[in-house]
Amino acid sequence: MKIDIVSVFPEYFEVLNLSLMGKAQDKGLLEITAHNLRDWTHDVHHSVDDTPVGGGAGMVMKPEVWAECLDELLGLGAPAQQESSAQAEAATMQPPATDAHGSAAAPVLIFPNPSAPLFTQRDATELSHAGHLLFGCGRYEGYDSRIPDYYRAQGIDVREYSIGDYVLNGGEVAVSVMLEAITRLMPGFMGNPDSIVEESYTGEGALLEHRQYTKPAVWRGLKVPDVLLSGDHGKVDRFRRDEALARTNDIRPDLIKALDCKALDKADRKT
Ligand code: SAM
Repeated sequence: MKIDIVSVFPEYFEVLNLSLMGKAQDKGLLEITAHNLRDWTHDVHHSVDDTPVGGGAGMVMKPEVWAECLDELLGLGAPAQQESSAQAEAATMQPPATDAHGSAAAPVLIFPNPSAPLFTQRDATELSHAGHLLFGCGRYEGYDSRIPDYYRAQGIDVREYSIGDYVLNGGEVAVSVMLEAITRLMPGFMGNPDSIVEESYTGEGALLEHRQYTKPAVWRGLKVPDVLLSGDHGKVDRFRRDEALARTNDIRPDLIKALDCKALDKADRKT
């Protein structure tokens, strides 16, 4: 998967060279490039923002700078110079990004935005099959709203996502969160693929996961539930399922309400 990230702080993404994300890059599963938006500015101050039209506090990211950058990274070329631009020519010489099945894939352009729909495990699962993701990190009061509108009108798959009901200083952390959620679902990313099968928010009847324990069986007077030591896999599965249902009901009743009845077995209904 090819991943381009545009930010005024591209250094933020050096952490993606660590741990599993770093290993995935070494294996050639991911190709991540963080770009500095200021490289597409032309003024001496490399400014990317301007005052809000209509007044108000703060600054808004300018559409012209973003458009020069995104046109190039999407291989579109500026509208008036599509034929003549040497950069566009170079872009067309790059091999196209491919999806999880190895076929050429259209890019998905993603803007983190606190006033957008919530990013969920379902979105992460869908995007884990993409061939090319291009993230645009907002700063200040955000980016000019015409930027996503324009690229949607060009036929690009544009998504805006919030990662939660709070406001961050910039999109960098939000992009890191989304990238972790997306890439760990890619085939070949996790050493043990089973570790992503039974997790919170995963699958048809998505629940919160049961509680987890390791050895020793008694630690500082606190015991692991006896059933987990019984060796009876049927009973262990039932115990974990009941716990997942009860915890979800307590902590996230909205997930219980959203459950499809077909995802419940007879014993679940008793719980
Ligand atoms: N004025 C905006 C508002 O009230 O909705 C907040 C802008 S925020 C300070 C700057 C940037 O941080 C946003 O453009 C977005 O890219 C990112 N951001 C902040 N909070 C976010 C969240 N909860 N989810 C996703 N992105 C967020």
